[in-house]
Amino acid sequence: MNLIQMADVVDLLGLPAPPNGRSSYYVSCPCCDEDPRKRHLNINIRKNVFRCPRCGVSGGIFDLYSLYTGIPRDEARDEIMSKLGTGRVVPKANRIRSAWPAVTEYPMTDVDTRDATYTALLAKLSLAPDHRENLLQRGLTEEEIEQLGYKTTPVLGYVSIAAQLQAEGFYLSGVPGFYRREDDVWTFNHEKRGILIPVRDVDGKIQGLQIRRDNVSKRKFRWVSSAEKKDGCRAEGWTHLAGTVRDEIILTEGPMKADIIHDLSGDTVLAVPGVNTLTQLKLTLERLMESGLRQVKTAFDMDLLTNIHVQNGYNNLLALLDELDLRYGTYLWDPRYKGLDDYIWEYCLDKHRSA
Ligand SMILES: [Zn+2]
Repeated sequence: MNLIQMADVVDLLGLPAPPNGRSSYYVSCPCCDEDPRKRHLNINIRKNVFRCPRCGVSGGIFDLYSLYTGIPRDEARDEIMSKLGTGRVVPKANRIRSAWPAVTEYPMTDVDTRDATYTALLAKLSLAPDHRENLLQRGLTEEEIEQLGYKTTPVLGYVSIAAQLQAEGFYLSGVPGFYRREDDVWTFNHEKRGILIPVRDVDGKIQGLQIRRDNVSKRKFRWVSSAEKKDGCRAEGWTHLAGTVRDEIILTEGPMKADIIHDLSGDTVLAVPGVNTLTQLKLTLERLMESGLRQVKTAFDMDLLTNIHVQNGYNNLLALLDELDLRYGTYLWDPRYKGLDDYIWEYCLDKHRSA
C-alpha cells in the first residue's frame, strides 16, 4: 500500500526538504512570518502534522496543502491524489478530520521569541531577601546578581503575569513553562519556590530557565517546563555560557555553578545540564569553535570518580571533545574542600593528547 505522506506534499509544494534524517523541522510560516528568512512553522514528517508555535496554525497533510495553495481542504485531497498519480491511498489517520493525531504540546519556538518572553517575565519579578543573601554568601556581588538576572519564583499571580505578557505582545506558545489551563486561560507552570536562573546561549540570549528549589536535597535544579500540559512545551537540556567567547573555556555542570565560577575567576565557563545530556553541548562547542575555541578544561564534581553512571557520561563527553579535536584537560577538586578556589589542576592540558 502506497500512502500519501507529509513528505510527498512538502515536495509538491516545493518546500525545503527536512535536513538529513530529521523528522521534525522548521519552514517559514505563511501566516505569521513576514520575513521569509524566519522559520516558525514546524513540520513533522513522521507524524504527518504541522504546527506553528508562534501563531498557532496547525493541521495535517491536506491542511498544509490548502494553507500554501489557498485551495479548500476538501479539494486539496483530490488535487494531491491526481498530482501524485494513481494507486495512492490516504493515510488512515487523515481520512476523518477528527481522527487526526492530537497535538497537545507545542513544538518549541525560536530562541529570539523565548528570550523576549523570558526577559519580560523576569522583569516583572523580584529577588527575595533570603535568595539574595544565599547568592551573596556564594561570593557574588550585588552588581553581579543584578546582571545575572536571577529572580525568585512568584508565589501567586501566574495567570495575571501571563495575561500581561500577552497584552504586551509576547508569545507564550512554544515557550517552556507556559501552558493553558482547562478553561484555556494561559498560565505558568510552577512546582516549588526557588531561584529562577536564566540559561543563556552563546549570544547571551535566554534559551530557557532553571529553578534552584528551596529546601530540597535531591534534584535541586529543575528545568522550567510545561511538558504534558495543554499547549505546553518541554524544555531541552540547554547549555549555558557565562562570559565571552575565548580560545579556552572551563566546562562544568549546571548554569548557576558556571555563573559563580565565571564571576569569581573571570574565566569563561560553559555549563552542561548534566554529563548524560550532550546533544546541545556538541552544537554549542561547534559554534564556539567557529569563534576561536581551541581548548577546554573540564571541572566536574568528585562523584564522577565513584558513580559509574556518571562516569560513563563523562567518558562520552571526553570522546566528544576528542571527536571535535579540541585540546582538553581536567580540573578535579578535592572533596574535602568546598570552596571554588580550591580546584586542583590535576592534569596538564596535553596529557590526554600525548596518551
Ligand atoms: Zn505562524
